[in-house]
Amino acid sequence: MSPRPPARRGACPAFLAPMETGDGLILRLVPAEGAISPDQLRGLARAATAFGNSMMEITARGSLQVRGLTAETVAPLQDAVLALGITPRLGLAIDISPLSGLDPREVADARPLAGRIREGAAGLAGKLGPKVSVVIDGGGAISLGGQKADVRLVALRSGADVMWSVTIGGGAPELLTELEATALALDALSRIAALGRRARATDLPGCDAAQGDHDKPPAPLGTFPLADGRFACGIGLPFGAGAAELFTALADAAEAAGASDLRPATERVLLATGLDAEGAPAFAVEARRLGCLVAPHDPRAYVAACPGAPACVCAHFPARDLAPMVAEALAPLLDGTVTVHLSACAKGCAHPAPATLTFVGMDEGIALVHEGAPSGARGPVIAVDTLAARLATLALTPRAPGETGRGLLARMQEAGLPAGLWLREGNDRPMMKT
Ligand code: SF4
Repeated sequence: MSPRPPARRGACPAFLAPMETGDGLILRLVPAEGAISPDQLRGLARAATAFGNSMMEITARGSLQVRGLTAETVAPLQDAVLALGITPRLGLAIDISPLSGLDPREVADARPLAGRIREGAAGLAGKLGPKVSVVIDGGGAISLGGQKADVRLVALRSGADVMWSVTIGGGAPELLTELEATALALDALSRIAALGRRARATDLPGCDAAQGDHDKPPAPLGTFPLADGRFACGIGLPFGAGAAELFTALADAAEAAGASDLRPATERVLLATGLDAEGAPAFAVEARRLGCLVAPHDPRAYVAACPGAPACVCAHFPARDLAPMVAEALAPLLDGTVTVHLSACAKGCAHPAPATLTFVGMDEGIALVHEGAPSGARGPVIAVDTLAARLATLALTPRAPGETGRGLLARMQEAGLPAGLWLREGNDRPMMKT
C-alpha cells in the first residue's frame, strides 16, 4: 500500500483516509466481522507504538483508532493491520450490535440485513460521503439508540414475525417487512448519493426534521449472557483512550480469562466474548485493576471528552486531561440521568448528541451549554483554571427529595443557573437551597 494523503478536516478518520489532527494523523479501524483475537489486539498495539504515538482509542460508535501517525507511517500501519489478518470495514458505515447473532435477547440477528444493504449499496461507493451511516438495531441487550444515523432500522416483534421500523434522516418511521426495509434503505442511500458527497439524509425532501433526540443508552459494561451458554464481559476505556500498553494488558487479561475474541462496542467499551462463568468476573477484576470502567455507575461512564489540547489543533483546553477531575467533582450529580460532555471546541467530536451539560472550548475560555450541543455555546466564558472550583460549588447544591441530577440542573436553569455559576467566581457555598 502506498501512503495516503491526509483527508480534509470534517471527514472521518477512516482506514484508507486518515485525518490530520494536532498530534498527527489518526486512523480508524472497524473490524469487518466486528471481532479480533487477543493476539491481533496485541499486534495492533505493537503497530500503534511502532508507527503512531502509541495512543489508541475506542470511539462512542465502537471504532478502534490509532493516533499520532505521519504521512510516512500510514502505509506501514495499514500493512501491519492486514498482516495481522484483520480485515477492515471499507465503504459504507453500517453499525450493528457487537453481539449480533450471539445475543439471546435480540429480536433479530442484524447481520443478514446488514449484508444485503452492503451488497446493494456497493454501486454507490465513492458517491456517498464518508459520514453517511446506517444503523441496524436488532433489539438486543446493547441498544444503538444513541447513535445518529442517516438510515435507522430497528427490529420489532409483531406477533410471531419480525418487522423493521425504518427512519430516514429526521423523517417519520415506517414499519416494514425485511424485504421492504431493505428496498427503502437502498432507495434512500441512492437518493443521498445523487445529491453529492456532502449530502446527508436530512437533505432529502421530507426527511429534514431534526434527528430524533435519542436518549443515550447506558454503556454496555458488565456481564452479558450469550445464546450458547457462555458470557460476554464489557469494560470501558477511561474516556475512550489508553496507551498501547493498556490494550496489550487487556488482551492478555482476556486471553487468560478464556475469551475467544474481543469486540469494540458502543460508548467506548471493549467486550470480551466466549467467557465461562468464572472467566467473565476474572476479566472484569483485571480490567478494573488496570483502571478501566467495569460498572455502569462509574461516574466516568457519564462523561465524554474529546482528546483536546495538545492532541487536536482545534482545541482550546485539555479536555481529556481534565475529564477525571470533572467526573470526580460532578459525581454527586451523575446518577444516570446526566450526561456531561467536554468539547475542546464547538465541533463536538466526542458526543454528537446534546448532553445535559456541555463544556465548550472558546477563544476566551470555557462556555457552558445546558441541554444542548457544543454548537450552541455562546457565553459567558470562564478561565480554564477556575473550572474545578466552580464544579465543586455546583456539586454541593442539594437535591430535593426524589429529585434526579438532571432535575436539579433543570431547576437551577429555571432559576438562571448554572449560567450564574459561570458569571461569578466559584466559592464553597451551595448554589441553591432545596
Ligand atoms: S471537538 Fe475536540 S477533537 Fe474535535 S475538533 Fe474540537 S478540539 Fe478537536
